[in-house]
Amino acid sequence: MYMEGRLAAIRSRIDAACRRSGRQPEEVTIIAVTKYTSLEVAEAVLSAGLTHIGENRWQDVKPKWEAIGDRAVWHFIGSLQTNKVKDVIGKFPYIHSMDRLALAEELNRKAKALELDPVKCFIQLNVSGEESKHGLPPEELEGFARQLTELPYIQAVGLMTMAPLEGGEEAARPVFRKLRELRDRLNEKHILPYSVKELSMGMSGDFETAVEEGATYIRLGTVLVGGQA
Ligand SMILES: *Cc1c(COP(=O)(O)O)cnc(C)c1O
Repeated sequence: MYMEGRLAAIRSRIDAACRRSGRQPEEVTIIAVTKYTSLEVAEAVLSAGLTHIGENRWQDVKPKWEAIGDRAVWHFIGSLQTNKVKDVIGKFPYIHSMDRLALAEELNRKAKALELDPVKCFIQLNVSGEESKHGLPPEELEGFARQLTELPYIQAVGLMTMAPLEGGEEAARPVFRKLRELRDRLNEKHILPYSVKELSMGMSGDFETAVEEGATYIRLGTVLVGGQA
């Protein structure tokens, strides 16, 4: 099966990146990004032994979500409009695109109304400063975290970023390193009443660099499911 072969190759690249950086492969969770693919592809991902699935649009994922349900751990990785929170709340335990207060407040309000556990969120940061990118400017992170302390149904489990579109590893590494430093500084300052552990960074083209810089969740689409419909 193509999936098992691809996954084995990815795992050995993760292992090598871990060896280079003194980390353990168990610290890195692969999120299979199955957007633009069918239910069959998502099922193949699960059969190959992965459990975390990332999607970015509710309209597209709906049939997959309804068929797979809690056999997967669902991650919402796309930008999320406030009026779409109702579609994903309670279905995606992880939201990777929390980038503004209005969104945090709406997630908090809906989770409270439905008496859910706190929603596990990654604060998305625009570290590279590209205008085209979503995400909070890094200098606003601490103020934002302070506002989150008022929202008990939000748990900021980590930070998330995307590397610049251009520039390859050389451009990606400082962005990933900065995200790790931002997380560490946030924890040192004890702004939130718990520690923020996770770093969601690294995609098909740059996941080894992300692992070397401390990624705990990598979001893999093309390298895993590319070419499959
Ligand atoms: C599509 C997407 C990915 C996966 O990208 P690949 O380069 O195909 O691995 C990861 N993260 C986000 C936010 C995405 O939208």
